Amino acid sequence: MDLNQLTNDPEAIVEADRAHVWHHLIQHKPFEKDIDPRIIVEGKGMKVWDIKGKEHLDAVSGGVWTVNVGYGRERIGKAISDAVTKMCFFGGTAGTIPGATFSEMLIDKMPGLDRVYYANSGSEANEKAFKMVRQISHKYYGGKKSKILYRERDYHGSTLATMSAGGQDERNAQYGPFAPGFIRVPHCLEYRAQNDYAGDSYGVKAAEAIEEVILREGPDTIGALCLEPITAGGGIIVPPKGYWEKVQEICKKYEILLHIDEVVCGIGRTGTWFGYQQFGVKPDIVTMAKGVASGYAAISCCVTTNEVFDKFKDASDHLGYFRDISTFGGCTGGPAAAIENMNIIIEEDLLDNSKAMGLHLNEKLHELMDKHNWIGDVRGMGLFAGIELVQDRGTKEPVDEKKVMGIVADCMNQGVIIGATNRSLPGYNNTLLFAPPLIATKDDLNHVVDAVDQAMTRVLG
Ligand code: PMP
Repeated sequence: MDLNQLTNDPEAIVEADRAHVWHHLIQHKPFEKDIDPRIIVEGKGMKVWDIKGKEHLDAVSGGVWTVNVGYGRERIGKAISDAVTKMCFFGGTAGTIPGATFSEMLIDKMPGLDRVYYANSGSEANEKAFKMVRQISHKYYGGKKSKILYRERDYHGSTLATMSAGGQDERNAQYGPFAPGFIRVPHCLEYRAQNDYAGDSYGVKAAEAIEEVILREGPDTIGALCLEPITAGGGIIVPPKGYWEKVQEICKKYEILLHIDEVVCGIGRTGTWFGYQQFGVKPDIVTMAKGVASGYAAISCCVTTNEVFDKFKDASDHLGYFRDISTFGGCTGGPAAAIENMNIIIEEDLLDNSKAMGLHLNEKLHELMDKHNWIGDVRGMGLFAGIELVQDRGTKEPVDEKKVMGIVADCMNQGVIIGATNRSLPGYNNTLLFAPPLIATKDDLNHVVDAVDQAMTRVLG
């Protein structure tokens, strides 16, 4: 078919998609006859329109918590266009003007960190971090300090090494065997506490559970601890009071690098530039992706302290530098978009909006909890929230996953896009997720919560 004709014919687009596109994270069987694949054609602010002309209020920033500054930002489009027209790409052995400029802006927001390594996706940034840890182990510890700790329920990416550090068993179930040297530590969700504790000390207990793993494995075999600041897809788990202080103390005590995966929380989601900044943590390595350019371009960063960076600066050793490359880390479109993205957040006070609207969302979700016994727990920070659905508040038995997805589908019918921890944790795919763009207003959030209210009544009764 003539391509011009194709792009102007909605039905032909749907058929082309049905015939040739392999969508992410989705079963294709229903596309054969029951339903059409969803094609999103336009976005403005917090709204998107599909190819059938239906309007949706997007409470998950592009489905996967990415479009932090909202849709339709012409100035980001222009910045990308200007950058790639002038100088589209040069391999990362050289620098570029947007790359250098954004690194300066970013480091300004991350006191204590110094160096930015550019890549393309969250998984890739995490792989870079893992490789740094492994190389440090080889160079300074005879290869012994190579284990990387990761936490149950956390997610760090879709590649095999990041899946080896994946705390969501159902996602991993069919892709093993995984890479050796990745060791799991327990989650820190107080609502589903895994150890006995006396109330307010759960945070410390949960961190001590990490220390137990370190002692079991041998502290001198462990190079890094990799954690999400707030577990995202694993159920919006905000670490309890005392947790981060203890984690920091443990890392220091055993000389373990603290790698924080800010792929979701980074760039304003929780109301500060980074999630770790909510807890006063001092990481050695920080990775980020989604919000860096709000999805306008593919860019991720692995940011380190000079202490880490300097370990790769030994010129007497011909193997001493970081022997890694990411071809498209040399694209200028990513950092050009990231510069404008950050400028928008600053000019429009979107960190403050995330904080204020986050409080409003939290309040509305608690009101919903008063109304529906199905809600066992409301969690979140800034414009990042989750509600865990249970059959009974006493037993905390999770609501059936099909019903959880039924609520998501009902909201979709109402023109509101929300998310869920679907198909990642056996038995616990029962948390509805909200991560709207940082521009969300009270009216937007009320609309979202009303839709969830109606959907819960219809689906759960
Ligand atoms: N880390 C976290 C915390 C994530 O949520 C994700 C993606 N959802 C990733 C890493 C991987 O990012 P990407 O899909 O860009 O590889």
